[in-house]
Amino acid sequence: MDRYAVIGHPVEHSKSPIIHTAFARQTRQDLCYQALLAPLDGFSDTVRMFRAGGGRGVNVTVPFKLEACALATRLTARAKAAGALNTLTFNGDIVVGDNTDGIGLVRDLVLNLSCPLAGQRVLLLGAGGAARGVILPLLQVRPTALTIANRTVSRAHELRAAFAEYADQSALTAGGFEDLEGWEFDVVINATSASLENEAPPLPDKIFAPGALAYDMMYGMGDTPFLAAARAMGVTRLADGLGMLVEQAAESFALWRGVRPKSAPVLSKLRRKLATPA
Ligand code: NDP
Repeated sequence: MDRYAVIGHPVEHSKSPIIHTAFARQTRQDLCYQALLAPLDGFSDTVRMFRAGGGRGVNVTVPFKLEACALATRLTARAKAAGALNTLTFNGDIVVGDNTDGIGLVRDLVLNLSCPLAGQRVLLLGAGGAARGVILPLLQVRPTALTIANRTVSRAHELRAAFAEYADQSALTAGGFEDLEGWEFDVVINATSASLENEAPPLPDKIFAPGALAYDMMYGMGDTPFLAAARAMGVTRLADGLGMLVEQAAESFALWRGVRPKSAPVLSKLRRKLATPA
């Protein structure tokens, strides 16, 4: 049986084993997928031991997504641009590093939520690892404009500079939250971790264009603080990041197994599970 794993610290909360096990059953692939806790200073040793035991690939989660790049002998363009990865594939001596978070977000927005990003004004809140991972895939679907806003303004400008070369079809701008006054957007994506502190990024109340979609990469039971704030501003199209989570997993699964699983039934099952208090 082929072995895969998600490696992180902490990792016990990860939904990846449930998702990949469901994909394997659905596509009749003979594999097992586990969660592996790596010591904070022991990521590469954990990967090495997993590989030595016959592991075929791993997903990488917080806080190892940057460090994982050093283990890859080859990086895909999207992993290179992001400077971080979430998927390693072992093939003999070759270790391919990829980042499927961004394509997962784009597939969730475009396919699951019927939100055509092309020609839209997109606002990305945050400039951390998650934001960095989604900028190239977002630019590749050619929004009219992609604006990056962050609490620490210099980090937003750094991202703009890093991705300017990919923005030939879109206006790529950056600034702080206060610079958003007077602007409106068709899609607003929260890639900050403010929800973890039970906060929402401070946004002007006219930031959402009529019919806009508010998307929070964070997920859980009910509205996140960002989604609650958007709802209070009259937004009716709201989505959390559970679909992104399932879609990035589907992309990793397709890379590893050469077969693309259907994400919709797995997303519905996970949604029902999340809605049921433990
Ligand atoms: P990082 O720690 O790398 O970055 C955090 C970002 O949030 C920074 O831009 C930081 O701003 C900002 N921030 C933190 N607190 C606040 C606050 N109170 N108000 C405003 N901005 C704030 O985290 P990640 O980028 O890795 O993750 C961000 C979120 O994305 C997390 O909630 C994570 O769970 C989610 N995520 C979801 C995925 C999915 O599949 N659904 C995949 C990956 C991530 P500053 O620079 O000023 O510190």
